[in-house]
Amino acid sequence: MSNELNLSARDNCKIIVANWKMNGSETLLKDFATFSPSKGNDVIICVPFTLLDSAKEILPNFIKIGAQNCSEEDKGAFTGEISASMLRERGVTHVIIGHSERRKLFSETNSIISKKVETVLKNELTPIVCIGETRSEKKANKTFQVLEKQIDGSIKNLGSHIGLIVAYEPIWAIGSGLVPSDNEIKETHLHIKEKLSQFFTTYIPVLYGGSANSENCSKITSIENVDGLLVGGASLKKQDFLAICNC
Ligand code: PEP
Repeated sequence: MSNELNLSARDNCKIIVANWKMNGSETLLKDFATFSPSKGNDVIICVPFTLLDSAKEILPNFIKIGAQNCSEEDKGAFTGEISASMLRERGVTHVIIGHSERRKLFSETNSIISKKVETVLKNELTPIVCIGETRSEKKANKTFQVLEKQIDGSIKNLGSHIGLIVAYEPIWAIGSGLVPSDNEIKETHLHIKEKLSQFFTTYIPVLYGGSANSENCSKITSIENVDGLLVGGASLKKQDFLAICNC
């Protein structure tokens, strides 16, 4: 199967997502107040919950505001949690779900992730669902198997016509300075798209994440089937992120 399925990126327009993780401040937001890329890529900045209101106020209007997680529950006795409807009320448009740090450090399973995706969609927000293999899974040649299981477990039963973004983030590439080869990215994205096309009739963009930076961004985004980037560390530096948004 190949591009007959119309699996490649549309309109040359990329989706660039910043994941600030537990970093950032009002000062950093103010630094981004004059952020002005020359290319028309979609830019989404996912800030910590405490910066959502300030992000809405300070960042230029073309930047969409995202959150990095939400509860799978709608409301109730869940101390410390934030629901998707609360995020919607704050002007959030996108929510990262199932980042590998949440899967690992907060024991999020595919089944929890699938409930989170459902509640995000119910609230008319766009989930950015992260999938990816560990170093040992890659070494054991299990990458496709792992990704399929994550897709089956977390985003399969959602109806065929939905707005969803998938981020392929090899766990071994996150924050390590390591990036898969161009061919590995191409083949893996194609595999993910073929799998997704079994369930969804809508176009599901697939982003690459893991040590993307201002130097490798153009090369990565020019790979077939890469619809954009999810960027951690390099999104905290204005000039680096500007270069990435211009790729
Ligand atoms: C991430 O954690 O989502 C990520 C892509 O991080 P980095 O860009 O720092 O590897």
